[in-house]
Amino acid sequence: MKIAVLSRSRNIYSTQRLVEAAEERGHKIRVINTLRCYMNIASHRPTIHYQGDELDDFDAVIPRIGASVTFYGTAVLRQFEMMGVFPLNESVAITRSRDKLRSLQLLSRKGIGLPVTGFAHSPGDVADLIDMVGGAPLVIKLLEGTQGIGVVLAETRKAAESVIEAFMGLKANIMVQEYIREAKGADIRCLVVGNKVVAAMKRQALPGEFRSNLHRGGTAELVKITPEERSTAVRAARIMGLNVAGVDILRSNHGALVMEVNSSPGLEGIEKATGKNIAGQIIEFLEKNAKAGRTATKGA
Ligand code: ADP
Ligand code: GLU
Repeated sequence: MKIAVLSRSRNIYSTQRLVEAAEERGHKIRVINTLRCYMNIASHRPTIHYQGDELDDFDAVIPRIGASVTFYGTAVLRQFEMMGVFPLNESVAITRSRDKLRSLQLLSRKGIGLPVTGFAHSPGDVADLIDMVGGAPLVIKLLEGTQGIGVVLAETRKAAESVIEAFMGLKANIMVQEYIREAKGADIRCLVVGNKVVAAMKRQALPGEFRSNLHRGGTAELVKITPEERSTAVRAARIMGLNVAGVDILRSNHGALVMEVNSSPGLEGIEKATGKNIAGQIIEFLEKNAKAGRTATKGA
């Protein structure tokens, strides 16, 4: 196969590992700087150009699109889709997953366990919103946040009110969420490839911190997940339309609750915590599934 990786740099761990894994399995793979692709949206003959050449003979494309370049990155990926190139994850599915609120709405529609979550626009509705999610303590999340930045634990009702009002005053979109205390600062990252959880790790926050993100100093270890957690993760990825996803789960006293479904999960933490060759499994997935024109959505 000839595979393109859309990535900002070939020096990123995940990109490097995908290149290694593809070459080990005998494929040609090229790292393409997403932001340097330019395209001609021509009727019947859509093209992508890169450093003066036309990119026209790839069998598959692996999007590794950072949150800050979602708009341009999904446009480039969509153009590959228009040309019939098989995407590891489709542009529409990535767009869905990048909107935390839309993701939770899609998951709730199919009965996936979620922390009770509220969303409101007007400061006049804050009191009722706080009651709706069960009162303090509660978690307030900026919809645009990543890596745990913009996730706040408000211990008291007063604190919650003032933080929510401050964010609303700044015109920031936030959601409020029931705090899952019994998760004890840990979450489970399930790496889904196709219809399987191929690896899972438990991330534990630093003492005194409730956010378990590795970027916030959290530590990762191999974990054995329950059949319920396994099926929740696979279903969540399926509902989002993602072939490859990092599904983050909180262990609550009423079962597995999905917090988030990530469409460009990093490979470093999970490969190191589990010792598994996940890049290899991703390439294997492409070997089995990458057929020209075989996408569910093609941008629609
Ligand atoms: P981000 O997308 O920025 O990583 P998350 O929604 O995943 O934001 O939240 C960051 C971390 O905060 C999670 O990994 C988890 O450890 C903790 N957390 C988030 N929401 C809750 C919650 N409702 N209850 C308990 N802990 C939570
Ligand atoms: N048809 C798309 C979907 O099912 C909606 C378009 C979009 O938001 O990109 O999500």
